[in-house]
Order: sequence, then C-alpha cells, then structure tokens
Amino acid sequence: MTADDAPIEPNARGCYCGLWATKPEVLRSQGVEPGFCGVCVKCGAPGHLRHAPNGPYSAAWCDRCFQRVARRGMLIKIAIGAAIVAALILWRYFA
Ligand SMILES: [Zn+2]
Ligand SMILES: [Zn+2]
Repeated sequence: MTADDAPIEPNARGCYCGLWATKPEVLRSQGVEPGFCGVCVKCGAPGHLRHAPNGPYSAAWCDRCFQRVARRGMLIKIAIGAAIVAALILWRYFA
C-alpha cells in the first residue's frame, strides 16, 4: 500500500468509482480492480472512467495517460487557436 492507494472521492476525480457503492458487479465483470473504475484504454493499467479532456466522450485512463492526453489536448487547442489567429491576420493583410 502506498499513498496512491488511498481512496479518492469519486466526485473529486469526476469518475465512476461511485459504481463500487451501487453496482460493484458491473465493475467486477469488466475485470476492474477495487479502487479503480476502468482499465486504461492506452496502457491497460487500472484507471478511471471519465470524460475525455480532448473530446465529448468518456473513456478509461490511468492517471498518467489522462495527464498526457489532457496536456496534448491543451497543446492542440493552443495550436488550433494560433492557426486561426494566423489565418485571420494573413487574410486581413492580403485580402
Ligand atoms: Zn474511478
Ligand atoms: Zn494508462
């Protein structure tokens, strides 16, 4: 047991760990380990089912992959924003 194994409030993470209280058989049937509510879609590690930081869908991620996806999603958003601004500037400049 490490500090990482400490139970986390389901709402703090925005995940579905609350299912352990209501429908544990659903999680068990999916091979999910206690303390988690999903299996990471990226690396297969125990993780949590939650809203994707980069899109309107839900999937299971371990904390490490979730951080990576969240960071990449932010970079993509910044890149798209910069591209739009650049396009607007170019358009105003040349049109
Ligand atoms: Zn969870
Ligand atoms: Zn992962």
